[in-house]
Amino acid sequence: MAVLLGCIADDFTGGTDLAGMLVKAGMRTVQLIGVPATPFDAQYFEDVDAVVIALKSRTTSPSEAVAESLAALHWLQQADCQQYYFKYCSTFDSTPQGNIGPVAEALMQALNTDFTIACPAFPANGRTIYQGNLFVGKELLNESGMRNHPLTPMTDANLVRVLQQQVSGKVGLTDYAIVEQGSAAIAHHFHSLREEGKKFAIVDAVSNRDLLEIGLACADMQLVTGGSGIALGLPENFRRRGLLSADTHNKTLAHQLPAVGGLRAVISGSCSVATQRQVDVMRAQSAAFHVDPLLLAEHVDVVGSALKWAALHLGNVPILFYATATPETVKSVQAKLGVEQAGSLVEHTLAAIALGLVKLGVGQLIVAGGETSGAVVKALGVSGLRIGPEIDPGVPWTSAIPEQRCDDTSSLSSHSLPPLALALKSGNFGSEDFFLKAWKYLP
Ligand code: ADP
Repeated sequence: MAVLLGCIADDFTGGTDLAGMLVKAGMRTVQLIGVPATPFDAQYFEDVDAVVIALKSRTTSPSEAVAESLAALHWLQQADCQQYYFKYCSTFDSTPQGNIGPVAEALMQALNTDFTIACPAFPANGRTIYQGNLFVGKELLNESGMRNHPLTPMTDANLVRVLQQQVSGKVGLTDYAIVEQGSAAIAHHFHSLREEGKKFAIVDAVSNRDLLEIGLACADMQLVTGGSGIALGLPENFRRRGLLSADTHNKTLAHQLPAVGGLRAVISGSCSVATQRQVDVMRAQSAAFHVDPLLLAEHVDVVGSALKWAALHLGNVPILFYATATPETVKSVQAKLGVEQAGSLVEHTLAAIALGLVKLGVGQLIVAGGETSGAVVKALGVSGLRIGPEIDPGVPWTSAIPEQRCDDTSSLSSHSLPPLALALKSGNFGSEDFFLKAWKYLP
């Protein structure tokens, strides 16, 4: 079966959020980190229903965001997807210049379509839309913390006005009076807006039921744009057409990963409060190696020592490598080394340790920290992640997809990256026993 839904996400964690949502809705999903350098190759996607290409285009210049998004679309078009999806933040993070509007219009033009929706609603996380106004919990968007966002301050909650500033086409509203009548009425309203010459509909939504009805009304839309919530309603369209197999309707199958053996390790470069606690809990009962940034600055061969230590300690139980420290320690390290240098020294070291561990036979690896995960994934030559079972909200096990035909000798190439289960945990996610309990969720 071919890839049904081709998605473009404007940042990495947004991509993971969407991928997790699609898996929960029964679609077998792969997340790719950036636009692959090699063309689409169907043999790698035979059992994949949805592909999410995660970009970093939320706060780049509109022209860069458009170029990157079009490159992602062109790659996905090689897979001949049934529908395309542009995912942005549920708080509609953007400025009067973009990037949501310009990217959406460029994608519409490339897909030769003249109508789409813009619906960032995600009621489960308190993002609802009523009369075109976006609420964050009980507050209007412009009265929420988003008004002070350092890069994309949101000073207007009315999405019709916000999007209209960013696009040349006309923006309309499908309001709640229509939405509550269900999918047929919504689809009919989209048709009327289109007849009036509107290119976009902001769509009210206050519950998951609304998202499901809106999803059904988007069955024939080439391009859908929104947060991850609206993705909830799309799989049903494929199911009704017999394109999504009954097996994947059984939602436990969509997140099945191939069983991966190998040794187990945790690498932690996150200093967030939740991770500090998780590291303490694991240290209390497991072998742990501390990566000291000050030794790194003195050019001590910490990677060498860590891997020698690993060779002695890797066995039946997971082991831990951590740079995680309290805010006071981090501040004093940063005062000595500089904020950026301390960060990148630690990231590079942990990434080199990860590479060494995989060569030593680690096949199940947890990495804590967003930036740390980015560095590890790069060092290992991972180009994508197949999304598996969720350990805690927002953190699934994944199966690493190697870069294809990669010539980069600093990372493991496709021929040498052994099967690897990866859990990439952002700082504040996960319960305090996360590093101990995660293994039981693996097949
Ligand atoms: P999070 O997801 O918690 O924000 P990140 O990995 O994104 O975690 O960021 C943590 C940053 O802190 C990384 O750049 C990492 O290299 C750095 N870091 C980790 N440990 C230390 C330390 N002991 N001193 C200084 N910086 C550190």
